[in-house]
Amino acid sequence: MEHLKDKFADECGVVGIYKKDKKNAAKFIYYCLFALQHRGQESVGIATNDNGCIVNEKGMGLLSEVFSSSSVEELKGNIGIGHVRYTTAGESILKNAQPLDVLYKGKQIALANNGNIVNVRNIRGILEDSGVVFNTTTDTEVILNLFARNIKYGEIFAIKELCQLIRGSYAFVITLENKLIGVRDVYGLRPLCIGENSKSYVVASESCALDAIGAQFVRDVEPGEIIIIDENGLKSYKLDSAVKRKMCIFEYVYFARPDSTLDGINVYSARYNSGRILAKEVPVKADVVIGVPDSGLPAAIGYSKESGVPYGVGLIKNKYIGRTFIQPSQRMREEGVAIKLNPLKEVIAGKRVIIIDDSIVRGTTSQKLVATLRHAGAKEVHLLVASPPVISGCYFGIDTPLKKHLIAANMSLEEITAAIGADSVAYISLEGLIEAMGTKEDVFCTACFDEMYPMEIPYNTLGE
Ligand code: SF4
Repeated sequence: MEHLKDKFADECGVVGIYKKDKKNAAKFIYYCLFALQHRGQESVGIATNDNGCIVNEKGMGLLSEVFSSSSVEELKGNIGIGHVRYTTAGESILKNAQPLDVLYKGKQIALANNGNIVNVRNIRGILEDSGVVFNTTTDTEVILNLFARNIKYGEIFAIKELCQLIRGSYAFVITLENKLIGVRDVYGLRPLCIGENSKSYVVASESCALDAIGAQFVRDVEPGEIIIIDENGLKSYKLDSAVKRKMCIFEYVYFARPDSTLDGINVYSARYNSGRILAKEVPVKADVVIGVPDSGLPAAIGYSKESGVPYGVGLIKNKYIGRTFIQPSQRMREEGVAIKLNPLKEVIAGKRVIIIDDSIVRGTTSQKLVATLRHAGAKEVHLLVASPPVISGCYFGIDTPLKKHLIAANMSLEEITAAIGADSVAYISLEGLIEAMGTKEDVFCTACFDEMYPMEIPYNTLGE
């Protein structure tokens, strides 16, 4: 599926809950998924486990469109997993919605994953050649199949075996029998954390999901760690292969919620710091600095603090645009139909404006934004970007345009500035972005900025 949006698109969000008080888990999973909705809006599902009996409800659309209070009430069991999906592998159809569940030798198993397996075509081909049939086109079904075939030797063995075969990014939750399991890939490319309160254990993609149900953050699941939760509490195991931690730096740039803390780094602080560093790297004489809502706002505040250029709210976002909203045509936009972001003329008119965005992908949105600001009377428009030029696609669960559509992969800075129509365009350096994370360690995947992929990508996975 070629990606037409002018942003990297979110991936998926997962959650798993084990209720120690033996009450139903479904309502709590619902609230966690609500907090994770930004990670996927195409489909949603909740699978609950009542003493090994699993019921799995899924639908296309937002959580509030798929589940009602009565449908959540009907889901019984003190253990459950949930998923919000943005399609990065497989089609966007109900069959591919997660969690997936199977019945294997009398055992019901449900699994939900966030990530992308780069060698899935090879593994799937081998399995199909040996007679395995698949119901979906997802990576997740391949993971579930590999897990089930070794379950007779125990969950730890089954997970270790499957993780030796799959390569890529994954953060998955499984429920079977009386257990909840969480696994994070050896690089820790996708986030996963653990929360707890007196009544529940929670495993979730982001810490904002723990806050949603009043659970305390305990810690992040370590790269290559397996967590098993049952009536004996939480136990931790390690996958055999040890590699260098490579958390996706784009989680901090754009994907994650600002109130989440991932691997010890608060997302808001990382964005704010990137603005401060941008101000040091790219000082611009201006009357006001504004941010592109929502992810550009903390960087704009940071830039203002460091540079002394006053911060202003220059763009107002309409939050009520749903999936079914009829987008205006190009012609209507040229005639001034501004739907999603409307400029605040009182802040913009007659001013030299710095506008900060989290990233530039194709450049089409930036071009429109600059034109909008000029139309609102800006004297000068300087576009500053709180991440380095995006020059390459992602193979780890993030939907990215082909390289030929990435503006920075195909144009010089002068050409980008001219194409976007700004007075100037500048990016934070990669070193600056890493410094904004507050650590000097090389613990991030930065491949979309420098093409240094943490693992080899099989030829048949490369999209171009
Ligand atoms: S390539 Fe970019 S988006 Fe993909 S995991 Fe690495 S940093 Fe994240």
